Order: sequence, then C-alpha cells, then structure tokens
Amino acid sequence: MATERTFSIIKPDATRRNLTGKVNAVIEESGLRIVAQKRIHMTQAQAEAFYGVHAARPFFRDLVTFMISGPVVVQVLEGENAVARYRDVMGATNPANAEPGTIRKLFAESIEANSAHGSDSTENAATEISYFFAGTEIVG
Ligand code: ADP
Ligand code: MG
Repeated sequence: MATERTFSIIKPDATRRNLTGKVNAVIEESGLRIVAQKRIHMTQAQAEAFYGVHAARPFFRDLVTFMISGPVVVQVLEGENAVARYRDVMGATNPANAEPGTIRKLFAESIEANSAHGSDSTENAATEISYFFAGTEIVG
C-alpha cells in the first residue's frame, strides 16, 4: 500500500472546547503523521467554496455558518492508505453511528458539529490540501 496524504480539519465545535490536542492524540495514536498544521478562521467565501459540492443540500447554509463560527485547524496527514484510514479514525458522519474510539464518537456534538473533516478520495485530498497549504508548508 502506498504512502498517501489526506486533508483534515478540526472543526469549530472542537476548537471551542479546547480539544485540538485530544483530537491530535487520536490521529497520532492511529499512526498517521501530522505533516502540516495551522489554525485559521475561515471566511464565508472559503467555507462556501470548500463545501461547494454540498451547495444543493438542505444543510449547506447551516454548515457554512457553523464552519465560520470559530477557528479551525487545517492539517495534512500522511501515512499508508491515509485517506481511507483517516475516514476510519474519524468515524461515521453521524456520531450516533460512529464506532467506539473514533474522533466523532469521542468528541462530536451532533451530525453537523462533528469535530473533524477528512477527504473522501485521493483526488479530493490533493485538491483540498492545495486549497489551504503551499507545498513549502508541508514538512514530512
Ligand atoms: P463527511 O464529513 O463524513 O464526509 P459529508 O461530506 O456528507 O460527511 O457532509 C459534510 C459535512 O456536512 C458533515 O461532516 C457534517 O458537518 C455536515 N452534515 C452532513 N450531513 C448533515 C445533515 N444531515 N445535517 C446537518 N449537517 C450535516
Ligand atoms: Mg465529505
């Protein structure tokens, strides 16, 4: 299996509750490496563009409002099969359906305020990483 990179966001519900370190501990204990990381406050335009694929969904406006409600931590994670592995480490979108020990089961408040984002394909990972990071900011 190849070494991959995936894109992660620690969402505003988690930064608000001071959980950045606890989320990062779950990530690192899974074997994934945090090879880039910064705390930012997304603009509305950034959040709308990032979640543009969901623009037609009924929850889109609320999701954008939530994502700009406070700071987030954007990250690049690296490891074997990182895209699929981080999806497993995060758990299901709805924390009620997430496996024990996953970020969302441990920390999420709701299906919307679910503490973490992770790319769903290697193609989207590359797009999402380049949206927030310059190559020189990623240090494996
Ligand atoms: P995932 O983040 O697991 O890939 P999606 O891509 O389907 O999930 O949705 C993006 C984000 O939109 C979710 O992480 C969550 O914050 C929010 N979301 C998804 N479904 C709902 C819903 N039914 N109601 C409210 N918010 C939702
Ligand atoms: Mg998704």
